[in-house]
Amino acid sequence: TEPLFGQVEPFAGDPILSLNDSFKADPRSEKVNLSIGVYTDENGRIPVLGAVKAGHERVGFAGRPYLPMEGHAIYREGVQKLVFGAGHPAVADRRVATIQTLGGTGAVGIAADFLAKHTPGRTVLVSDPTWENHHGLFQRAGFETATYPYWDSASRSVDFDGMIKALEAAENGSIVVLQPVCHNPTGVDLDERQQDAVTDVLIAKRHIVVFDMAYQGFGNGLDEDAAFVRRYAERASCLVANSFSKNFSLYGERCGGLSVVCRDADEAERVLGQLKLAVRRSYSSPPMTGGLLVATVLGNDDLRAQWAGEVGTMRTRMDAMRKRLADEIRALSNEVDVGFLLNQRGMFSYTGLSEAQVRAMRERDGVYLVGSGRMCVAGLNEANVPKVAKSFVEAAQAT
Ligand code: PLP
Repeated sequence: TEPLFGQVEPFAGDPILSLNDSFKADPRSEKVNLSIGVYTDENGRIPVLGAVKAGHERVGFAGRPYLPMEGHAIYREGVQKLVFGAGHPAVADRRVATIQTLGGTGAVGIAADFLAKHTPGRTVLVSDPTWENHHGLFQRAGFETATYPYWDSASRSVDFDGMIKALEAAENGSIVVLQPVCHNPTGVDLDERQQDAVTDVLIAKRHIVVFDMAYQGFGNGLDEDAAFVRRYAERASCLVANSFSKNFSLYGERCGGLSVVCRDADEAERVLGQLKLAVRRSYSSPPMTGGLLVATVLGNDDLRAQWAGEVGTMRTRMDAMRKRLADEIRALSNEVDVGFLLNQRGMFSYTGLSEAQVRAMRERDGVYLVGSGRMCVAGLNEANVPKVAKSFVEAAQAT
């Protein structure tokens, strides 16, 4: 018989997830995975946070009714407090509509669906480069995507002038996706002065801003990392996607949030209704177990404090590993510039290595970076840093 799906094209796969599969299949015991964006501890394991474990014990296992479309009430309150900070005027005025989402991906996805319905036909601008799914999720929702300059390879920092110019040149009312902290994949962020200058342009141009904050707490601290979003939300409406995958180490539970800052409480109520509708048409309601865990941690002062301490431990370890790698590289060669490692923040570092250099590291040494030269510094530990440094120097000098 005729095959029904004979014309279906194969899926090339997600390049980073495929690389992760190659890593797993690599028989070498000394291999090092610095590709996929997960935080692993000093022993190379994805940690179970103590606060999450304690929350799990407190929750126990009860009945499993559906959660409402918008998610668990305490979870949503916790998201607002964490993202905007206690006492933020937008939260105090009850003009933020927040829903529990399926991770950060789900948050950006629902944001895209919501915008496609209520502000259709606009151009969507994302940073060049960015997390690849920004293009994919907005295109799926029916938008065309374009980019604004972000990475300056010569200085290995933000191309701030290029970014500002592009935001000024864009059509008024464009949708602009911004990563407020720990930019994926580059690791370079705007400083406070740059954030405020960008905010001025975004507001003057009436652009619709979608903040995608996937690494809150991995930069300088939970509150510090949200400062850009908080200041922006004091001045204008915006959408904020946040993820708990990394900072709760709850990747597979699919926990995140989407908050829409509105002009007043009435608008927020209506926006919340439309977010619920978007959820209903997509997956109906969010999952319960992860939702209960996050809600329990964020909703209890003792667990919340314990969790904040554990986020600090993860952040400090990544910072220490950046420094350790830089020191090891310097000890091997003073010709290889390592300043970028210390200037960049969060889980990722754009190394400036070419695809060929990255391939050489993988094939010769079993050290896996992403083809773009992105290194996940969370995969570094005391045991593998010397090997990575040696591989890095050999690759960098082979240009
Ligand atoms: N947004 C950015 C910028 C990311 O880097 C990621 C994860 O890699 C996500 C969103 C997705 O987060 P989640 O795994 O919670 O869906």
